[in-house]
Amino acid sequence: MGEENRMTNIVFFKEFNHFSDALSYFDLTPFTQKEIPLKLHMGELKNKYYPKAEFVSQVVAVLKQKQIAPYLFDSTVAYPGLRHTKSGYEQLAKIHGFTQSKVGCNVVIDDQGIPVRVDSRAYEVVQHLYHADAIIALSHVKGHVATGMGGAIKNFGMGGVTKETKRRMHHGSRPIYHEEKCNYCGVCAKACPFDALTIKPGKRKYSIRACFGCGVCVEVCPREALSYEDDDLQYVLACAAYACVHNKHVLYLNEVKRIADSCDCDPTAKHLICPDIGYLVGDDPVAIDKASLDLIYAVKPDIFKKEIGIDPYKQIKYGEERGLGTSSYTLHEL
Ligand code: SF4
Ligand code: SF4
Repeated sequence: MGEENRMTNIVFFKEFNHFSDALSYFDLTPFTQKEIPLKLHMGELKNKYYPKAEFVSQVVAVLKQKQIAPYLFDSTVAYPGLRHTKSGYEQLAKIHGFTQSKVGCNVVIDDQGIPVRVDSRAYEVVQHLYHADAIIALSHVKGHVATGMGGAIKNFGMGGVTKETKRRMHHGSRPIYHEEKCNYCGVCAKACPFDALTIKPGKRKYSIRACFGCGVCVEVCPREALSYEDDDLQYVLACAAYACVHNKHVLYLNEVKRIADSCDCDPTAKHLICPDIGYLVGDDPVAIDKASLDLIYAVKPDIFKKEIGIDPYKQIKYGEERGLGTSSYTLHEL
């Protein structure tokens, strides 16, 4: 099942004008002469750091030069807001400048899925990804409240499945409480980003309505007094990503810039935690996320763990164990 022994190439460059050269490291034959999805997150309303339309239009132009005909693609989300529905997300895409005339290709939002079984669970992969045999992924690398970091694995693991599957994945990461082990230290309540927990001496209050299923409390509890309702979000994330990309040709572009403490779905993300690094291209989601993390940690050691309290290397480990990709790579700098 694991891919521990395979080594893959990752191309790193600081200036975007090297993107075309970076693509020449890879066989583009499976991607050419047809319409394929360019999977990206078009940003939550009021978020400042999502990939901008002007940048995406440059990506699209380079792909077209290589005889690849992309269309921008994303799926609806589980939480309230414009991106919750197909029509709302289409509206938001326009607000953020993702229109045919500005980016040079169509924009498609999907909210219907087809179940794919991975281990013992079914993940509804959105139809356009399910039916595509080749995909380009544009992933903005930044912090994430529930997974430490969001990159290529998260772009598919959460972004490639229906909102029903997203909801189930989050619900599975809600805490089960084991009172006999709890000493009411309050560490979980302090760490909860959604104020779903209150701890007082001898008393614990938990609001299932406020709980987002991020799993942070389970991770930080020092006494194993909390466990997951189903499984670790980073594990199901790796499995869902596998459901989306297994047996497909996928090229990944990671934009490692505007590295905020929170993700592009957070309207309040405002704190940049690392200087801009650059761009990476590869054909393996585990390797490209590992390389992105390694480059970030070379400048800001352990920054996601320190700022968010979650170790993002877990999604790399789970991804490798599940056969999603390899963490062994050779970095080529342009
Ligand atoms: S962190 Fe664990 S031990 Fe501490 S109050 Fe929360 S559940 Fe109890
Ligand atoms: S899973 Fe997340 S939102 Fe829910 S109680 Fe734990 S820390 Fe809070």
